[in-house]
Amino acid sequence: MERLDAFMARANAAYYAARDPYANFTTSPEITQVFGELLGLWSAVTWEAMGRPDPVLLVECGPGRGTLMADALRAIGGVAAPFAAALRVHLVETSPRLRALQAERVPDAAWHAALEEVPPGPMLLLANEFLDALPIRQFVRRGDGWAERFVDGGAFVERPAAAPEGADAEDGAVVELCEPARDVARHIARRVLREGGAALILDYGPAESAPGDSLQALHAGRPANPLAEAGAADLTAHVDFAALARVARGVGAAVHGPVPQGMFLTRLGLFQRTGRLARTQPPARAAALVQAAQRLAEPDRMGRLFKALAVCHPGLPCPAGFEP
Ligand code: SAH
Repeated sequence: MERLDAFMARANAAYYAARDPYANFTTSPEITQVFGELLGLWSAVTWEAMGRPDPVLLVECGPGRGTLMADALRAIGGVAAPFAAALRVHLVETSPRLRALQAERVPDAAWHAALEEVPPGPMLLLANEFLDALPIRQFVRRGDGWAERFVDGGAFVERPAAAPEGADAEDGAVVELCEPARDVARHIARRVLREGGAALILDYGPAESAPGDSLQALHAGRPANPLAEAGAADLTAHVDFAALARVARGVGAAVHGPVPQGMFLTRLGLFQRTGRLARTQPPARAAALVQAAQRLAEPDRMGRLFKALAVCHPGLPCPAGFEP
């Protein structure tokens, strides 16, 4: 018997080490190159607002295949040569297999197993679909009390537990808690306060904390039983943006958003940049680029459930895309 977060950590470590995760899912940077390009330009603009520190760390958590960073660096090199010269790429990745893929696309990076290992200095940090992979705990309201979910032989068992902090829910409701995601938010907030900088987090989940079981497993692109053999599928859960914002504000950082991904990317120029790129391409490829942009931005696809959140040094102006 294993607590759910221990099971999820073990399952994902096995999964990311042994398989090509992208056989099972796709992510925004894999859908269109414009996603990574826009995040690169966001970093360049934010670097200007920081007063152009040189050197500056460009950090990415959970870089997957390295596509986002490669697209970001290409866009930065094209329009922001001083930023390109000042930045040092640091990638936070635990999977040796994915590190090897990242090294093909971003050869000049330094790798770390945890954010805490990234050397000090002002930083810009990007994290797309990183926090959703971090292990969660689940609590279930039972009558006047609470139980916590453990995994035993591919099924949930419950054990009596203390009430999760601040939780209020109807009988039978599930409340989730992702302690590592809060630790990441706390670490980022402390770091930008001490060293300067800003972090841009993109992921999926509700804007307001709410009860609900969001644990999900994908196998071959289809929902699968999350409690089946550990490592057969990747396990994810919704990101609790309100909780992250609370933690980061509690430390003293400025928090902007969450704003829906569609609004954020559209404000950064998703459709203008896609249009410009499409005009240089043959018709079929041009149409695919426009469809990809729509997939990221349309509310009933990835435009609303996915959100952007920024954690910044309080001396910085509101970052691009988060204007009220
Ligand atoms: N950002 C990428 C990949 C998302 S998949 C994209 O948009 O395509 C999640 C990524 O986080 C993978 O690279 C995975 O190996 C990494 N990862 C998962 N748990 C991690 C942890 N605890 N520490 C560091 N990296 C982790």
